[in-house]
Amino acid sequence: MGANLLHGIGLALNIIENVKKSLEGHRVKEVKELEVELGEFYYVSEKELKDAFEIVAKDTIMGNVALKVSIIRGRIRCINCGYTGRGEINNEPHAIQVTCPKCGEGLVEILEGKELKLKKIRVEIED
Ligand SMILES: [Zn+2]
Repeated sequence: MGANLLHGIGLALNIIENVKKSLEGHRVKEVKELEVELGEFYYVSEKELKDAFEIVAKDTIMGNVALKVSIIRGRIRCINCGYTGRGEINNEPHAIQVTCPKCGEGLVEILEGKELKLKKIRVEIED
C-alpha cells in the first residue's frame, strides 16, 4: 500500500467522521450524494482520495455513494519576497513541496489550500 493511499485513508476517515457528526440526530437510511472540497496542497490526488473513500466507506451508510471531490485553488505568501498568490506545486514521492513562483523559495506560508470541507450531503431518511 502506497504512502499516498494511506494518507488518503486518513482523510477519508476524517470525511466519514464529519459526515456522521453532521447527521447526528437524524434518522438517516443512506447517504445518496456526498461532495467535498479539497485544498490543492493536500498531497493526495482526487483519485487516491476517492479510492481510499471507497475502501473505508464500505459497510457504512456511505457505502453506496461515489464521493465527489472539487479542488480548491490554494494561495500562499512567500516569506522570502512577500509574494502572495498561487503557489508552485512540486510533487515529491511522499510529500508535496510548495514554492514561490516569483523567487523560487520554498519558505512559504499557506493561506488557503490545506482545507477539507464537506460541501454537499444528500441523504435518504428512514420511514
Ligand atoms: Zn518569493
